[in-house]
Amino acid sequence: MTPDQLWFDPSRCFIGNEWLAPIGAQTLSLTDPSTGLPIAEIARGRKADIDQAVARAEVALAGPWGRMSAPERGRILLRIGQEVLAKGEQLARLESLDVGKPLSQARADVQALARYMEFYGGATDKIHGSTIPYLEGYTVYTLREPHGVTGHIIPWNYPMQIIGRSVGAALAMGNATVLKPAEEACLSALAFADIAREAGLPAGALNVVPGLGAEAGAALSEHTGVQHLSFTGSLATGKQVQAAAARHVAPVTLELGGKSAQLVFADADLDAALPFLVNAGIQNAGQTCSASSRILVHRDIHDELVERMAGAYRQLRVGPAIDDLSLGPLISARQHGIVSDFLDKGQDLERVASGVIVDDVPAGGFYLAPVLLTGATPEHVLAQQEIFGPVQLVLPFDDEEHAVAIANGTPYGLVASVWSRDGARQMRLARRLRAGQVFINNYGAGGGVELPFGGTGLSGHGREKGFEALYGFSTLKTVAARHD
Ligand code: NAD
Repeated sequence: MTPDQLWFDPSRCFIGNEWLAPIGAQTLSLTDPSTGLPIAEIARGRKADIDQAVARAEVALAGPWGRMSAPERGRILLRIGQEVLAKGEQLARLESLDVGKPLSQARADVQALARYMEFYGGATDKIHGSTIPYLEGYTVYTLREPHGVTGHIIPWNYPMQIIGRSVGAALAMGNATVLKPAEEACLSALAFADIAREAGLPAGALNVVPGLGAEAGAALSEHTGVQHLSFTGSLATGKQVQAAAARHVAPVTLELGGKSAQLVFADADLDAALPFLVNAGIQNAGQTCSASSRILVHRDIHDELVERMAGAYRQLRVGPAIDDLSLGPLISARQHGIVSDFLDKGQDLERVASGVIVDDVPAGGFYLAPVLLTGATPEHVLAQQEIFGPVQLVLPFDDEEHAVAIANGTPYGLVASVWSRDGARQMRLARRLRAGQVFINNYGAGGGVELPFGGTGLSGHGREKGFEALYGFSTLKTVAARHD
C-alpha cells in the first residue's frame, strides 16, 4: 500500500455519506511511523464539522435509519462485515502503513473488525425488554432503545478493533454515530466509513470527523446533541472527556490504560506460559492498553523464568511494519520520547535482555528495541505507571498473598492472568484480582469479540465488547399501562 493507492480522499470528513472538505479548509499531515515520512494530508475537522456531523446523525435518526427494523440493521452490519473481509488485504496494508503495525497483526485486526460486525449484526434482534409483574390493573414492560447520537473518540493503536467494538455495538442498537479517530492514524476509520456506505448503511448513521483532540475531540465531547460518549485513550484525556460530558449529563464509557500483571506460580507450565508472557508485552510494540507490562513470578522460579524470557527477547526483531517482524516502530517521535524517558528513569534496574533493531531500517522511523528489566520494587515508577511501549518488568513474589498485593497495588485494573495448575488457587485469584478481565493459564484468550472488556479504577468504567456492550449503548424505558 502506498499513499497514491488510497481509494478515498483522506483530506475530507465523511458526513452524511458524503466526503466533505473540512469547513476550516485545513489539513494535518499524517506520518508513516516506519519511515517518518508523510503519508497523506488528513482533514483538520473542528467544531463546525462536528456540529454538521451531529446534525446529520440527527437527520438519520429521524429518517430511514431511525425507523429501520432490528433485523434489517443486522443485515447491514453483516454486509459491512463481508465487505471488510473482501477488502481485507487493502485494509490490513492501510493499517500497517498508518500505525506501523507488523502486517500480520494488522491482518488479525481486520479479522477482528469483521467478527465485530458479524457478532453485533447477529445480535440486533436478540436484545429486548421484559414484562414486569405489577399491581392488579397494570401491564408493565420495558423497551430497550438507542441513546440517539453517540460520540466515539478513539486512539491510534488498534483503530479497526476499537471501531468494531464501539461503533459496531452502537449501530446495532440503532444509534447514529459520530466517530473522531486519532490524528496519528485515521485512515482505516475513513476506509471503514466508505465500506459501510457501500454496504448500504443509511446516510448519517456513521459520520467520521478526523482532527485534533483539543479541537474535534473536545467539540464532540462538549456537544449537547450527543447523548452518549465512548472514549478510548489516555487517562488524562478521559478525565477531560468525562468532565465535558458531565456538563450535559451524557453517560460516558471510559476505556483507559493499564498496568496489567501476569502472576506465574511455581507450579505453572512455563513452556505454555512463555509465549504469552512475552507476546503480551511486545504486541503492537507494547502500545496496547491491556499489555502485560508486569510479570510477577514466585521467587523459587524467578531466575529460571527470567532466563527463558531473556532468551525469547534476544530473538525479537524490530523493523518496518511491512517486513512483518516481531515488532514495528512506535507510532510517533513523541511516543518514542515518552518510552525513552521511562527507560532513563529505569537506569537503576537491570536490563536483562533486549531485542534487535534490524540493519538498514529507514533513518526517520521511530524504532525502539524491546527491553526486559528486573530489580524493580513494586513501587518503582516503571512498575506503577503505564509506559505504552515494549518494556516489561519481572518482579518476584513470596506467596499468593504477596502476589495479589503487588498485582492490585497500582491504581489501574484492566487485565490480569494467573499461571498455575492449582484449581483452587485459580478460582481464588480470579475473584481477588482487581481487573475487568482475568485469564487463567492464558492471556487475552485470543481477544474474542464475545468477551466483555473494560476496566476498574483508573482503567475506566463501562464495558465494551460482547453482548454487555449493547446495554451500554442503549437505554431502558419502562412503560406502565393502567387498564381495567
Ligand atoms: P489520547 O488520550 O491522547 O488520544 C485518544 C483520542 O482522544 C484521540 O482521538 C485524540 O485526538 C482524542 N483527544 C485528545 N485530546 C482530547 C480532548 N481534549 N478532548 C477530546 N478528545 C481528545 O490517547 P493516546 O495516546 O492516543 O492513546 C493511548 C492511550 O489509550 C493509552 O493510555 C492506552 O492505554 C489507552 N487505550 C486504552 C484502551 C482500552 O480499551 N482500555 C485501548 C487502546 C488504548
